[in-house]
Amino acid sequence: MNFKPSDAFWSAQQSADLYGIDRWGNDYFGLSEQGLVTAKTLNTQVPLMDIVNGMSERDLQMPVLLRIENILDAQIYRLNNAFSEAIEKLEYQAPYRGVYPIKVNQQAQVVEEIAAFGARFNHGLEVGSKPEMIAALSTLTEPGSLIICNGYKDQEFIDLGLQAVKLGFKCFFVIETPAELPIIIERSKELNIEPLIGVRVKMTAKVSGHWNSTSGDRSVFGLSTTQLIQLVDRLKEEEMLHCLQLLHCHLGSQIPNIREIRGGVVEACRYYADLSAEGAALSHIDFGGGLAVDYTGAQSNDSQSRNYTLEEYCEDIVDTLKNTLDEYDLAHPTIVTESGRATVAYSSILLFNILDVTKFEPIELPKVGDDDHQLLQNMRDVLTTLKEEDSHRIQEHFNDAHFYRDEIRELFKRGQVDLRTRSEAENLFLEILQQINNTLDTLERIPVALEGLKDSLADIYYGNFSLFQSLPDIWAIDQLFPIMPIHRLDEEPKRNAILADITCDCDGKIDKFIGEHDVSKTLPLHELKDDEEYYLGVFLVGAYQETLGDLHNLFGDTNVVSVRLNEDSTFDFVKEIHGDTIADVLSYVEYEPKEMALRYRNTAERAVKEGRITARDRQQMLKTFSASMQGYTYYERDE
Ligand SMILES: *Cc1c(COP(=O)(O)O)cnc(C)c1O
Repeated sequence: MNFKPSDAFWSAQQSADLYGIDRWGNDYFGLSEQGLVTAKTLNTQVPLMDIVNGMSERDLQMPVLLRIENILDAQIYRLNNAFSEAIEKLEYQAPYRGVYPIKVNQQAQVVEEIAAFGARFNHGLEVGSKPEMIAALSTLTEPGSLIICNGYKDQEFIDLGLQAVKLGFKCFFVIETPAELPIIIERSKELNIEPLIGVRVKMTAKVSGHWNSTSGDRSVFGLSTTQLIQLVDRLKEEEMLHCLQLLHCHLGSQIPNIREIRGGVVEACRYYADLSAEGAALSHIDFGGGLAVDYTGAQSNDSQSRNYTLEEYCEDIVDTLKNTLDEYDLAHPTIVTESGRATVAYSSILLFNILDVTKFEPIELPKVGDDDHQLLQNMRDVLTTLKEEDSHRIQEHFNDAHFYRDEIRELFKRGQVDLRTRSEAENLFLEILQQINNTLDTLERIPVALEGLKDSLADIYYGNFSLFQSLPDIWAIDQLFPIMPIHRLDEEPKRNAILADITCDCDGKIDKFIGEHDVSKTLPLHELKDDEEYYLGVFLVGAYQETLGDLHNLFGDTNVVSVRLNEDSTFDFVKEIHGDTIADVLSYVEYEPKEMALRYRNTAERAVKEGRITARDRQQMLKTFSASMQGYTYYERDE
């Protein structure tokens, strides 16, 4: 038995430090002493593995997108509560009203949950298109609820909004381009309903991070100062300036630096003061989105982190607003924010199983005989000296190994060595690299040429998911998400790995991870066991990922399970949505599943007629075909 003392001393706490769960988990996730990741709310903890076991019993196969409703509720509570506390503490004289921007996760379950739980805080919705408007109108029920309409609005969109005002919703049209105003004026006269108007201004305050083009002169959104003056004059002419009640500014998404937020608020206040002086009856100020999620847990102003807490965000906004507007002797407006990412990111986790591993280690092969090629013998000599010698010639051995291996490859190409000889050389080569790698662990300083060796020998763990469907931002914008095993965390993870998905695309891999101190090219994982599934979770994926995913290789939507945790540590499966079937994804790209089945039947029937298969074979084939059509697009485990 190969017993290493460290096995005995590895604790769940060491795993917590390694994967950073307390740094990025926002108090929603923890580790039990048994080495299981738990979801924490209501002073209880539920191991995610219990939920996974519940899924297996309900035949919900991996991958699964798990939503924990309590976390969504808790985030809405925290946001509203943090603003209320800041308002009270700083004696600000108007309330906070949050709105949730539907585009961040438009799934009906999510929007309905936000509307239901947010009702007690008057939490409203932000919409950027007609479909989102329809979703908002059919989800919100309380009169007085805020609906903020951004985006380009045509006559139909405007009619919907005016009728919403008549119904009692506080539905604001935020003017993004000068062309919208004439339609609003015309339709409001026609329908005899006074509009609630907001205006989006172009901010000059530039912010860092990935979405910085949302602000600045070249931003495609918002009115310039001259357009703003034209708008005010036109509204005056129409005697409608009292309808202009909201100022809107959105600095960008995922703003990592609190100083930039404060700068934006100061600039917005200047607009607010001067538009009020022009006679606008402003009563709401809307700062858009931007409240960041600390994906890496570094608490820094790095683009995937944030250097402030929720409480600091709220206090900075309220404080800056109060101080600036008090100078102008203006009444305090209702504060609106459109936090999307921070509201939904924490509540969803992508869970998947590992299907296979590729290791870059020698494999034992049968011996071919002893008339070995000279180059093979040279390689064996390198290995022997490596094992015997101390480390000072390690780089030389590394170079030699490369040289001999490349020579063999060259000879193979020219037909001078056979496949077995070449595979033996490749094997020896890996053995040498592993030997060097082990030696590196004992060195104080790693030679520059060997710095990348460890990563280049990392395992590839194949996960049952599609990056393009479930984690598109990893591919599109190099987003980092916390990834870790959800069990076995009381064992030391001894392998270093990258992850590959099951699409046949070389971009379908993850090779940047949140390391203990920095971004890491590999993820520590456990050795697979023969008789046990190994489950990983990708955390903080509730924002944007579902919406932007695509059908690469026709992998469709995953199964989705919503759970609600109870105070007695039990949980309920509130909703489950089976992911796309193969027939579903094929029909998205305009195939006709019925016709496909018919054509396949004809092909099989012809084979019967021509005597290539029996009628019984045909029946079997048609059964397989139709079961497949109705099945999941991902790798399914046989029961
Ligand atoms: C995208 C967007 C949001 C949401 O931003 P988050 O950073 O996700 O909170 C809010 N408002 C507008 C106008 C947006 O375009």
